[in-house]
Amino acid sequence: MATVTVMGNEVLEAVLAQVRPLLGKGKVADYIPALASISGNKLGVAVSTVNGEHFRAGDANERFSIQSISKVLSLVVAMNHYAEEEIWQRVGKDPSGHPFNSLVQLEMEQGKPRNPFINAGALVVCDMLQSRLSAPRQRMLEVVRKLSGVPDITYDSAVARSELEHSARNNAIAWLMKSFGNFHNDVPTVLQNYFHYCALKMSCAELTQTFLFLANGGHAAHIASPVISALQARQVNALMATSGMYQNAGEFAWRVGLPAKSGVGGGIVAVVPQEMVIAVWSPELDAAGNSLAGVAVLEALTQKLGRSVY
Ligand code: GLN
Repeated sequence: MATVTVMGNEVLEAVLAQVRPLLGKGKVADYIPALASISGNKLGVAVSTVNGEHFRAGDANERFSIQSISKVLSLVVAMNHYAEEEIWQRVGKDPSGHPFNSLVQLEMEQGKPRNPFINAGALVVCDMLQSRLSAPRQRMLEVVRKLSGVPDITYDSAVARSELEHSARNNAIAWLMKSFGNFHNDVPTVLQNYFHYCALKMSCAELTQTFLFLANGGHAAHIASPVISALQARQVNALMATSGMYQNAGEFAWRVGLPAKSGVGGGIVAVVPQEMVIAVWSPELDAAGNSLAGVAVLEALTQKLGRSVY
Protein backbone atom coordinates (compact mmCIF):
# COMPACT_ATOMS: atom_id res chain seq x y z
CA MET A 1 0.00 0.00 0.00
CA ALA A 2 1.52 3.33 -1.07
CA THR A 3 1.43 5.94 1.70
CA VAL A 4 0.99 9.52 0.58
CA THR A 5 2.47 11.77 3.22
CA VAL A 6 1.60 15.09 1.61
CA MET A 7 -2.12 15.70 1.43
CA GLY A 8 -3.30 17.99 -1.36
CA ASN A 9 -6.22 18.80 -3.63
CA GLU A 10 -4.59 16.64 -6.33
CA VAL A 11 -4.72 13.60 -4.02
CA LEU A 12 -8.47 14.16 -3.65
CA GLU A 13 -8.88 14.71 -7.42
CA ALA A 14 -7.11 11.40 -8.10
CA VAL A 15 -9.38 9.53 -5.69
CA LEU A 16 -12.51 11.03 -7.28
CA ALA A 17 -11.28 10.00 -10.75
CA GLN A 18 -10.73 6.47 -9.46
CA VAL A 19 -14.24 6.25 -7.97
CA ARG A 20 -16.23 8.09 -10.67
CA PRO A 21 -16.99 4.86 -12.64
CA LEU A 22 -19.21 3.80 -9.70
CA LEU A 23 -21.67 6.65 -10.41
CA GLY A 24 -24.87 5.12 -11.75
CA LYS A 25 -24.49 1.92 -9.71
CA GLY A 26 -26.44 3.06 -6.61
CA LYS A 27 -29.92 4.50 -6.06
CA VAL A 28 -30.83 8.03 -4.95
CA ALA A 29 -33.07 8.08 -1.83
CA ASP A 30 -36.67 8.07 -3.02
CA TYR A 31 -38.68 7.90 0.22
CA ILE A 32 -39.50 11.60 -0.22
CA PRO A 33 -39.95 13.42 -3.55
CA ALA A 34 -37.67 16.29 -2.47
CA LEU A 35 -34.68 13.92 -2.35
CA ALA A 36 -35.69 11.70 -5.28
CA SER A 37 -35.26 14.64 -7.67
CA ILE A 38 -31.53 15.17 -6.85
CA SER A 39 -29.06 14.33 -9.63
CA GLY A 40 -27.16 11.14 -8.82
CA ASN A 41 -24.19 12.32 -10.79
CA LYS A 42 -22.59 14.37 -7.98
CA LEU A 43 -19.31 13.57 -6.30
CA GLY A 44 -17.44 15.76 -3.85
CA VAL A 45 -14.88 15.44 -1.09
CA ALA A 46 -13.40 17.88 1.43
CA VAL A 47 -10.75 17.53 4.13
CA SER A 48 -10.03 19.90 7.03
CA THR A 49 -7.05 19.23 9.27
CA VAL A 50 -6.56 20.18 12.92
CA ASN A 51 -3.61 22.29 11.67
CA GLY A 52 -6.03 24.53 9.81
CA GLU A 53 -5.51 23.24 6.27
CA HIS A 54 -8.45 22.72 3.91
CA PHE A 55 -8.54 20.59 0.78
CA ARG A 56 -11.40 19.91 -1.59
CA ALA A 57 -12.31 18.38 -4.94
CA GLY A 58 -15.34 17.83 -7.16
CA ASP A 59 -18.69 19.07 -5.83
CA ALA A 60 -17.24 19.90 -2.39
CA ASN A 61 -18.90 23.31 -2.22
CA GLU A 62 -22.40 22.28 -3.27
CA ARG A 63 -24.95 22.05 -0.46
CA PHE A 64 -27.04 18.94 0.06
CA SER A 65 -29.43 17.55 2.67
CA ILE A 66 -27.28 16.27 5.55
CA GLN A 67 -30.06 14.00 6.87
CA SER A 68 -28.78 11.58 9.53
CA ILE A 69 -25.42 13.31 9.84
CA SER A 70 -27.45 15.76 11.96
CA LYS A 71 -27.94 12.99 14.56
CA VAL A 72 -24.35 13.59 15.70
CA LEU A 73 -25.07 17.28 16.18
CA SER A 74 -28.24 16.67 18.19
CA LEU A 75 -26.33 14.28 20.44
CA VAL A 76 -23.60 16.89 20.97
CA VAL A 77 -26.20 19.53 21.90
CA ALA A 78 -27.83 17.03 24.31
CA MET A 79 -24.41 16.39 25.89
CA ASN A 80 -24.26 20.13 26.58
CA HIS A 81 -27.58 20.10 28.43
CA TYR A 82 -27.78 16.73 30.18
CA ALA A 83 -25.67 14.74 32.62
CA GLU A 84 -24.16 11.57 31.16
CA GLU A 85 -26.44 9.13 33.00
CA GLU A 86 -29.58 11.08 32.02
CA ILE A 87 -28.82 10.48 28.36
CA TRP A 88 -27.74 6.86 28.52
CA GLN A 89 -30.61 5.64 30.64
CA ARG A 90 -32.89 6.56 27.71
CA VAL A 91 -30.77 5.44 24.75
CA GLY A 92 -28.14 2.69 24.40
CA LYS A 93 -24.60 2.61 23.03
CA ASP A 94 -24.67 -0.57 20.97
CA PRO A 95 -24.93 -1.19 17.24
CA SER A 96 -28.41 -2.25 16.15
CA GLY A 97 -27.56 -4.45 13.19
CA HIS A 98 -30.91 -3.36 11.74
CA PRO A 99 -31.97 -0.71 9.21
CA PHE A 100 -32.02 2.87 10.55
CA ASN A 101 -35.81 3.09 10.66
CA SER A 102 -36.52 -0.36 12.11
CA LEU A 103 -39.11 -0.88 14.86
CA VAL A 104 -38.29 -4.51 15.66
CA GLN A 105 -35.82 -4.10 18.54
CA LEU A 106 -37.75 -1.18 20.00
CA GLU A 107 -40.71 -3.40 20.81
CA MET A 108 -38.49 -6.15 22.21
CA GLU A 109 -36.38 -3.75 24.28
CA GLN A 110 -39.19 -1.77 25.96
CA GLY A 111 -38.83 1.39 23.91
CA LYS A 112 -35.12 2.00 24.59
CA PRO A 113 -33.34 2.51 21.25
CA ARG A 114 -30.02 0.73 20.72
CA ASN A 115 -28.06 3.93 19.95
CA PRO A 116 -28.54 7.64 19.16
CA PHE A 117 -27.80 7.24 15.44
CA ILE A 118 -30.78 5.13 14.42
CA ASN A 119 -34.02 7.06 13.96
CA ALA A 120 -35.48 5.89 17.28
CA GLY A 121 -32.39 7.01 19.19
CA ALA A 122 -32.24 10.36 17.42
CA LEU A 123 -35.93 10.94 18.17
CA VAL A 124 -35.31 10.32 21.90
CA VAL A 125 -32.43 12.81 21.76
CA CYS A 126 -34.70 15.36 20.03
CA ASP A 127 -37.32 14.73 22.72
CA MET A 128 -34.67 15.51 25.35
CA LEU A 129 -33.75 18.75 23.55
CA GLN A 130 -37.41 19.75 23.44
CA SER A 131 -37.58 19.33 27.24
CA ARG A 132 -34.61 21.63 28.00
CA LEU A 133 -34.33 24.17 25.15
CA SER A 134 -36.77 27.01 24.61
CA ALA A 135 -36.30 27.01 20.82
CA PRO A 136 -34.57 23.76 19.72
CA ARG A 137 -34.73 24.56 16.00
CA GLN A 138 -33.23 28.00 16.37
CA ARG A 139 -30.61 26.64 18.78
CA MET A 140 -29.46 24.03 16.24
CA LEU A 141 -29.02 26.71 13.58
CA GLU A 142 -26.93 28.76 16.01
CA VAL A 143 -24.75 25.74 16.84
CA VAL A 144 -24.17 24.79 13.20
CA ARG A 145 -23.49 28.36 12.11
CA LYS A 146 -21.02 28.85 14.96
CA LEU A 147 -19.19 25.55 14.38
CA SER A 148 -18.98 26.01 10.61
CA GLY A 149 -18.33 29.75 10.74
CA VAL A 150 -20.91 30.08 7.94
CA PRO A 151 -23.82 32.34 8.95
CA ASP A 152 -26.23 31.50 6.12
CA ILE A 153 -26.55 27.74 6.71
CA THR A 154 -30.24 26.97 7.02
CA TYR A 155 -32.99 24.35 6.75
CA ASP A 156 -34.37 23.25 3.39
CA SER A 157 -38.04 23.79 4.16
CA ALA A 158 -39.19 21.79 1.09
CA VAL A 159 -37.27 18.74 2.37
CA ALA A 160 -38.61 19.22 5.92
CA ARG A 161 -42.18 19.47 4.59
CA SER A 162 -41.70 16.40 2.41
CA GLU A 163 -40.44 14.43 5.43
CA LEU A 164 -43.54 15.42 7.38
CA GLU A 165 -45.82 14.33 4.54
CA HIS A 166 -44.17 10.88 4.53
CA SER A 167 -43.65 10.41 8.23
CA ALA A 168 -45.73 7.32 9.06
CA ARG A 169 -42.75 5.25 10.16
CA ASN A 170 -41.06 7.94 12.25
CA ASN A 171 -44.46 8.64 13.83
CA ALA A 172 -44.81 4.94 14.61
CA ILE A 173 -41.34 4.89 16.21
CA ALA A 174 -42.06 7.95 18.36
CA TRP A 175 -45.51 6.75 19.48
CA LEU A 176 -44.17 3.28 20.31
CA MET A 177 -41.53 4.89 22.54
CA LYS A 178 -44.23 7.08 24.10
CA SER A 179 -46.23 3.95 24.93
CA PHE A 180 -43.19 2.71 26.89
CA GLY A 181 -42.74 6.08 28.66
CA ASN A 182 -39.53 6.96 26.80
CA PHE A 183 -40.90 10.01 24.99
CA HIS A 184 -42.06 12.96 27.06
CA ASN A 185 -43.12 15.76 24.69
CA ASP A 186 -45.71 16.30 21.99
CA VAL A 187 -44.85 13.85 19.17
CA PRO A 188 -45.65 16.17 16.20
CA THR A 189 -43.56 18.99 17.72
CA VAL A 190 -40.51 16.79 18.23
CA LEU A 191 -40.88 15.18 14.79
CA GLN A 192 -40.91 18.64 13.22
CA ASN A 193 -37.62 19.47 14.95
CA TYR A 194 -36.09 16.14 13.85
CA PHE A 195 -37.20 16.67 10.24
CA HIS A 196 -35.72 20.15 10.23
CA TYR A 197 -32.40 18.89 11.60
CA CYS A 198 -32.36 16.25 8.82
CA ALA A 199 -33.14 19.02 6.30
CA LEU A 200 -30.07 21.11 7.16
CA LYS A 201 -28.36 22.00 3.88
CA MET A 202 -24.57 21.99 3.97
CA SER A 203 -21.61 21.32 1.69
CA CYS A 204 -18.71 18.91 2.27
CA ALA A 205 -16.46 21.90 2.94
CA GLU A 206 -18.89 23.22 5.58
CA LEU A 207 -19.22 19.78 7.17
CA THR A 208 -15.48 19.24 7.66
CA GLN A 209 -15.19 22.60 9.38
CA THR A 210 -18.26 21.89 11.54
CA PHE A 211 -17.08 18.48 12.75
CA LEU A 212 -13.40 19.29 13.20
CA PHE A 213 -13.84 19.40 16.99
CA LEU A 214 -14.30 15.61 16.94
CA ALA A 215 -10.76 15.21 15.57
CA ASN A 216 -9.46 17.80 17.99
CA GLY A 217 -10.37 16.56 21.48
CA GLY A 218 -13.68 18.47 21.54
CA HIS A 219 -12.15 21.86 20.63
CA ALA A 220 -13.09 23.97 17.62
CA ALA A 221 -10.08 26.17 16.77
CA HIS A 222 -12.16 29.34 16.34
CA ILE A 223 -14.27 28.92 19.52
CA ALA A 224 -12.75 29.66 22.93
CA SER A 225 -14.61 27.14 25.10
CA PRO A 226 -14.66 23.43 24.17
CA VAL A 227 -17.70 22.20 22.22
CA ILE A 228 -17.65 19.02 24.35
CA SER A 229 -14.96 17.53 26.59
CA ALA A 230 -12.11 15.41 25.21
CA LEU A 231 -13.73 12.35 26.80
CA GLN A 232 -17.10 13.14 25.20
CA ALA A 233 -15.42 13.59 21.79
CA ARG A 234 -13.85 10.16 22.21
CA GLN A 235 -17.25 8.72 23.16
CA VAL A 236 -18.99 10.28 20.13
CA ASN A 237 -16.25 8.91 17.87
CA ALA A 238 -16.72 5.46 19.42
CA LEU A 239 -20.47 5.61 18.75
CA MET A 240 -19.83 6.71 15.17
CA ALA A 241 -17.40 3.82 14.69
CA THR A 242 -19.87 1.25 16.01
CA SER A 243 -23.22 2.69 14.86
CA GLY A 244 -22.61 5.50 12.38
CA MET A 245 -23.10 3.42 9.24
CA TYR A 246 -26.18 1.46 10.38
CA GLN A 247 -26.12 -2.27 9.68
CA ASN A 248 -22.96 -1.81 7.59
CA ALA A 249 -20.80 -0.57 10.48
CA GLY A 250 -18.72 -3.76 10.43
CA GLU A 251 -18.28 -3.76 6.65
CA PHE A 252 -17.34 -0.07 6.82
CA ALA A 253 -14.79 -0.70 9.61
CA TRP A 254 -13.27 -3.39 7.41
CA ARG A 255 -13.05 -1.19 4.32
CA VAL A 256 -12.37 2.24 5.85
CA GLY A 257 -11.63 1.93 9.57
CA LEU A 258 -12.73 5.39 10.76
CA PRO A 259 -15.55 6.73 12.94
CA ALA A 260 -18.13 8.03 10.47
CA LYS A 261 -21.76 9.08 10.09
CA SER A 262 -23.79 8.84 6.93
CA GLY A 263 -27.08 10.36 5.79
CA VAL A 264 -29.54 9.32 3.08
CA GLY A 265 -28.78 12.59 1.28
CA GLY A 266 -25.54 10.82 0.27
CA GLY A 267 -23.17 12.58 2.67
CA ILE A 268 -20.68 10.91 5.01
CA VAL A 269 -18.49 12.60 7.62
CA ALA A 270 -15.44 10.60 8.81
CA VAL A 271 -13.03 11.46 11.61
CA VAL A 272 -9.30 10.75 11.78
CA PRO A 273 -8.75 11.48 15.50
CA GLN A 274 -6.05 14.07 16.23
CA GLU A 275 -5.67 14.76 12.52
CA MET A 276 -8.53 15.58 10.21
CA VAL A 277 -12.16 15.33 9.20
CA ILE A 278 -13.17 14.07 5.76
CA ALA A 279 -16.60 14.72 4.22
CA VAL A 280 -17.82 13.07 1.04
CA TRP A 281 -21.02 13.46 -0.94
CA SER A 282 -22.55 11.38 -3.68
CA PRO A 283 -26.35 10.93 -3.59
CA GLU A 284 -26.66 7.37 -4.88
CA LEU A 285 -26.97 4.95 -1.97
CA ASP A 286 -26.18 1.29 -1.34
CA ALA A 287 -28.70 -1.15 0.15
CA ALA A 288 -28.02 0.04 3.73
CA GLY A 289 -28.66 3.71 2.84
CA ASN A 290 -25.00 4.78 2.77
CA SER A 291 -23.49 6.66 -0.18
CA LEU A 292 -22.11 4.02 -2.55
CA ALA A 293 -19.42 6.18 -4.14
CA GLY A 294 -18.88 8.03 -0.85
CA VAL A 295 -17.78 4.86 0.93
CA ALA A 296 -15.53 4.04 -2.03
CA VAL A 297 -13.92 7.51 -1.84
CA LEU A 298 -13.22 7.02 1.87
CA GLU A 299 -11.81 3.56 1.22
CA ALA A 300 -9.48 4.77 -1.54
CA LEU A 301 -8.40 7.86 0.38
CA THR A 302 -7.66 6.09 3.66
CA GLN A 303 -5.66 3.47 1.76
CA LYS A 304 -3.64 6.14 -0.02
CA LEU A 305 -3.02 7.98 3.25
CA GLY A 306 -2.48 4.81 5.27
CA ARG A 307 -5.03 5.90 7.89
CA SER A 308 -7.29 3.77 10.09
CA VAL A 309 -8.07 3.73 13.80
CA TYR A 310 -7.58 -0.05 13.86
N1 GLN B 1 -34.90 11.77 7.41
C1 GLN B 1 -34.50 10.40 7.34
C2 GLN B 1 -35.49 9.55 8.12
O1 GLN B 1 -35.89 9.96 9.16
C3 GLN B 1 -33.11 10.24 7.86
C4 GLN B 1 -32.58 8.86 7.69
C5 GLN B 1 -31.13 8.80 7.30
O2 GLN B 1 -30.48 9.73 6.83
N2 GLN B 1 -30.61 7.61 7.42
O3 GLN B 1 -35.87 8.47 7.71
